[in-house]
This record gives sequence, structure tokens and C-alpha cells, in this order.
Amino acid sequence: MGSASSASRVIFLDVDGRTQKVVFSRFCSPCDIKELFCTATGLSRNTTISLLDSTGAMVSIDPTMPNNSESSPYKVVPITGGQLADKEEVFQNVLTQVAEQFSRAFKINELKSEVTNRLAMLEKRVELEGMKVVEIEKCRSDIKKLREEMASRNSSFLEDNKKLTPHRDVSSYPKYMLSQQTIDALRKPTFDVWLWESNEMLSCLEYMYHDLGLVKDFNINPITLKRWLLCIHDNYRSNPFHNFRHCFCVTQMMYSMIYLCNLQEKFTQVDILILMTAAVCHDLDHPGYNNTYQINARTELAVRYNDISPLENHHCAVAFQIFSQPDCNIFANVDPEAFKQIHQGTITLILATDMARHGEILDSFKQKVDSFDFTNEEHVTSLKMVLIKCCDISNEVRPMEVAEPWVDCLLEEYFMQSDREKAEGLPVAPFMDREKVTKPTAQIGFIKFVLIPMFETLMKLFPQIEEVMVQPLRESRDRYEELKQIDDAMNEFHFIGAEKEE
Ligand SMILES: [Zn+2]
Repeated sequence: MGSASSASRVIFLDVDGRTQKVVFSRFCSPCDIKELFCTATGLSRNTTISLLDSTGAMVSIDPTMPNNSESSPYKVVPITGGQLADKEEVFQNVLTQVAEQFSRAFKINELKSEVTNRLAMLEKRVELEGMKVVEIEKCRSDIKKLREEMASRNSSFLEDNKKLTPHRDVSSYPKYMLSQQTIDALRKPTFDVWLWESNEMLSCLEYMYHDLGLVKDFNINPITLKRWLLCIHDNYRSNPFHNFRHCFCVTQMMYSMIYLCNLQEKFTQVDILILMTAAVCHDLDHPGYNNTYQINARTELAVRYNDISPLENHHCAVAFQIFSQPDCNIFANVDPEAFKQIHQGTITLILATDMARHGEILDSFKQKVDSFDFTNEEHVTSLKMVLIKCCDISNEVRPMEVAEPWVDCLLEEYFMQSDREKAEGLPVAPFMDREKVTKPTAQIGFIKFVLIPMFETLMKLFPQIEEVMVQPLRESRDRYEELKQIDDAMNEFHFIGAEKEE
């Protein structure tokens, strides 16, 4: 065999039991060889075939396929359309599945990125909301702090030390320069308390301490006295009634009583100092709402003093807070024993101004008055309590023009309270209710059943007060009774008029 035989391949095929020899070039493509085999076996050129050896094993169709002999030809088996279709179907299925897997994989990736984005957005929102929550909490605590601060400023002197030292310097209020006319008038209950500015009232109070010999006898530093009075002024609130002018009125009435009843002849200077100082301090930091309101509204003061004279206890506490400031301590040069007496005596008198104790205090005094003993400490204390009580509610002792404006002030303060009680759903006392009370009705009962009996009891010990104090009270009672009759007549007239109109 020459070069031709080395470049060609010889394969024997079984064609329907007959052996067919096929020769092809070693350089033929597998596709050419397949076409050649199809032609050799009488099949069309494009038929898909497989090649089997004598054992039935498949033989690959390509130029390097194994040789065979004439006695063992390969068998050409055409692959049927059905089989092909099945395989195509399988192939298609596989393709579809692969495509689905791919698309799922893609979708999962898409979902993943979407979920990641959404998570990031949510995280950001949570963070923002969290910041908002923190801000809100911060605001809440700020509001709470502000509320507490306001409440403590409104209702409690004790936490607010700013007022303990006077705002103004003493030099800004001049040394008392009272005319002889003012000095003479100051000793009488007829003194017109509406004519004076705060500074003038301060000068009057200062004068009283000098005039009674208290500055000299207790070695009070005159500058400390001025500073103390300024501080007192600053610790009265601007209520319609319970304000610094009321403090001045009560103290001025006490000063008048001391002269009228010659109390300096009967009392020690310590007692005089107690009477004057208790009068000055007796309503310090009054909030303008009475004990009934404090107790019903369960205010800080009512809680602090267990509903026992909350206001009067507070006035005392503020008074002695002021004395605890060295700048304002007019008792700095008083010996400890006397200070103890002054401290206790002042507290007793301020606490006695609680009208809830009126009956008890007056009854106790009534039991002593007929056999009164100025050397008996208990008797003297009882008298001092009645004296400060008389001064505290003494407006109707004053001339009508001076007394009457105070009724309007008191009613204004009462109405402020009753309006607040109504708004807060608390009980309202009829004498404070703007729907029920008039000036005459407010005054008649008070003068008849509180003022006159108390002043008449005091009159037993000091008959000189009848003309100067008790008589004006009776006149005032009569005047208000006349006013009430006019009011009643007017109401009746309106009533008849209304009936006629109907
Ligand atoms: Zn008072």
C-alpha cells in the first residue's frame, strides 16, 4: 500500500447483511464521514445515524475511528424521528429549567437588592424616628422641669432665695422724713392708708420702730432695719387684698392700739416688739387663695403643713427665713434668751391670725378678761393673740372712705378664688361666689358676728376703744344694713317690674 493507503481509511459496513467497504481520507471531517456512511447504506445524507460494532457498542464517527475487518463490519443504525423528538423535548425541558433557574437566580438577586434597599430605608427611618423620640423625650423633660420651676416659684418662697435680699439698695429709699402732721395722724385708726406710696409706707414702719423705742432697746442696726423692711415689702405679692398695703394697715392699727391702750405701760418691750413684728410679717408671701383652697386643691403648702393653718405656717417660715439672712436680721444684737422669746411669740401671733381658730381664741380670752392679770404670761399671750386678730380684720374700724375700698379688694380676691375653684371643680364658699355675694351682705354678718363681739370683749379691758373703734364698727354695720335695704327694695322693684311686663 503506498502513500495513498496511509492517507486513507478503510471501514466495513453491514448493509442489510451485505458487507460494504467504505474508503475515506484521514482528513475528512466527521460530518463528511457520516454523510458517506448514510449514502453507503442507502439513507439520505442528512439522516442522523449511530454506528455499532459487532458487540453492539457505539463507535464514534470521525477520521481516527478504530479500524475493522470485512468479517466484522460496523452496523449503521438510523436514529428515528420519535427518539429525536423525545430527546429534543428533554433538551428543551432542560433548557427551560436552566433558563428558569437562571431567571430565578436573577430574580432572587433583584429581590435581594430590593430587600437590602428597603432595609436600609427602614433603618434610616427607624434612626430618624428614634432621634425624634429622643427629641420628644428631651422636650418632655424640659417641659416638666419648667413646670416644676414655675410651680415652685408660684407657690413656694422657700426654694426661691432671690427675694431674701432686697432688690433695691437701702440708699435708694430716703431716711424717713415725716411731717409732724403725718406723725400725729399715724397714731390713730383714722389714718388714711390710701395716700401713701410703698416707700412712704416703709418710712412710716421704720419710724414706728424708732418711735416705740425698739431700735434703741434692742440695739437694732438702723440700716438693717431698712433692709429688713425692704425685704418684707418684696415678699408680699401684689394680690388685690393680701398685699404690702394690708401689711401696713395691720401694723399701723397695732401701732394705734399701742398708743390708745397705753400698752407700753402694761407690756414689756419684748411684747411690743413681738406685736409689731408679727403684724409686719403676718401675711408674708400670701398667694391670694385661702386655706380652704390650699387644702381642697391639695397644694404644696397644704401638703407641707398637713392641712394645719398652711398659709399662717408659711408666713412664719418666710419671716424667719428673712431673719436668717444676716443683712436683714434686726435681732442680731438681741441675747439668745430674748430671741427665743421673740421667735416663739411671733410664731404664736402669726398662727393666731388663722380665722379657722377665731372661736377658740376668742373664747379663751373671754374666760380671762373679767379677771385679767397682766403678770400672767398665759393671759398676756391670749391678749396679744386677740390684739393681732383685731388689727388683721380692722378695716371697718377705719373711716368709711378708707374702709370701703378694702371690701372691693377683698371681693376681687374672693372672686378670683371662686372662679378658680369652679374651673377646677372644687367646692365654692357662698361668701366668695360672685353670683351670690354683694358688698352689704358680705359685710353685715362679718361686722355683727365677728368684729363687734371681739372688739366689745377687748373693750372690757380697754374701755377707751369704744369711742375710737367699736362705735365706728356699729356705724358701719348700720350703714351696710341701710344699703342692704335699698338693694332689697331695688330687687323687689325689679321683680314687680318684671312681673308687670309679663
Ligand atoms: Zn392679714
